[in-house]
Amino acid sequence: MGFPCGEAKRYTGPDQKTKRATAGVGRPRHTLIGMSHDDADRTVTTTAQTAVTPEEEVARICAELIRIDSSNYGDGSGPGERKAAEYVMEQLDAVGLEGTLLESEPGRATVVVRLEGEDSSRPGLAVHGHLDVVPADAADWQVDPFAAEERDGCIWGRGAVDMKDMDAMILANIRHFARTGTKPARDTTFVFFADEEAGGTYGSHWLVDHHPHWFEGVTEAISEVGGYSVTVPTPEGQQRAYLLQTAEKGIAWLRLRAHGRAGHGSVPNDENAIVRLAAAIGRIAAHEWPREYIASVRELLDTLGTLTGLSSTDDDLEPLLATLGGAQGFVRGTLRDTANITMLESGYKHNVIPQTATAAVDCRFLPGHEDALMATIRELAGEHVEVEVVHRDVAIEAPFSGDLVESMKQALLREDPEAVVLPYCLSGGTDNKALGRLGISGYGFAPLRLPADLDFAPMFHGIDERVPTASLRFGARVLGDFLRSC
Ligand SMILES: [Zn+2]
Repeated sequence: MGFPCGEAKRYTGPDQKTKRATAGVGRPRHTLIGMSHDDADRTVTTTAQTAVTPEEEVARICAELIRIDSSNYGDGSGPGERKAAEYVMEQLDAVGLEGTLLESEPGRATVVVRLEGEDSSRPGLAVHGHLDVVPADAADWQVDPFAAEERDGCIWGRGAVDMKDMDAMILANIRHFARTGTKPARDTTFVFFADEEAGGTYGSHWLVDHHPHWFEGVTEAISEVGGYSVTVPTPEGQQRAYLLQTAEKGIAWLRLRAHGRAGHGSVPNDENAIVRLAAAIGRIAAHEWPREYIASVRELLDTLGTLTGLSSTDDDLEPLLATLGGAQGFVRGTLRDTANITMLESGYKHNVIPQTATAAVDCRFLPGHEDALMATIRELAGEHVEVEVVHRDVAIEAPFSGDLVESMKQALLREDPEAVVLPYCLSGGTDNKALGRLGISGYGFAPLRLPADLDFAPMFHGIDERVPTASLRFGARVLGDFLRSC
């Protein structure tokens, strides 16, 4: 397929040919639960509306969300999520649903809406996305990153992949439930979070700390980063495989602070803080973290090995990893713990030996490895270098089995019967970490059937982020199917 540069045009709406006018859908009753609205249980009238399907409006919603700049710089200087949250509220209101908009700080807005399921006696489900995006430097892009242009069958823009695509699939499906008076299988809490891209302090962690009642009875959650397809070579040709995310590495952002003796730059000094820090960095960089395969990684590699006919053994893994294309970065990061030096700071004048020197280290650990990683880093840092924890978050791991996993697999396979579904661990983190604090098992399931030659995974936080509209429509169908059957 490929993505040549064609004429750009502004995305204006769903394909006219797929738009079907149908009769009114009567007077569906839709019930909001678990909140203090006076008007819960109210009757929603949608007789005047045609029954637009999620598939038909998902691209419009995705494009409209991209046009709302919600860049998160991580220091509070961005525009915040308020405008995007208000947009979500309007989209809910238009179908007679009342969302709840919560602000952790002015402008830092999260929207929650809870729908009653067909069987409220079953445990609840959370379905969540985040409204913020990482910043984009327009100079690097082929298009305006906030214009949501449609080119070559894709919607281009910041958030097209991470994760206004999934936000749109979720919102389109909520609207469909409301319009048709139908219900998801289980009581479902839908959340559009603020601040995921800076660790969720003003979003998911804040909501879990201050308004945990929204998750009462919820045992499982779905969100990013999984459910997308990769196409791997096989002896017979090619095989499409969906990567379902079942685990996430944990995060330890550390600061190394070396102490030494300040002095004149002309005088010998064997207690130089910069030299001590450099030695510590050298030891950390040279350290070979042992490989360890957690269950999801082992199963992914073994199944891929069977499909491709390539080795999945420790000493001959490279050809197998290469079959994953751009997604191999995510997988490579999950074979062991990692520690990357990301910032350095010391000194203020050419002839002054400073007393301290600091470095930032971004460490990511596998489930169960946090204590071992911290002990290793402390040992490698040495006696003159302190290790401070700046930010930490847990690793999570959920089973690749059970009813929910089966529902996700079946929803994908009903739309794409020839495909296989594989588990994988994400090297980064998502808001599922925050929900994990409430005992909720989180999965990455933002279903997208992607063209074989679209290098999708590197577009997370990358330039020229774009999502095929056909993939969005596929995702909207699969997500709806899943919500009704899970
Ligand atoms: Zn994301």
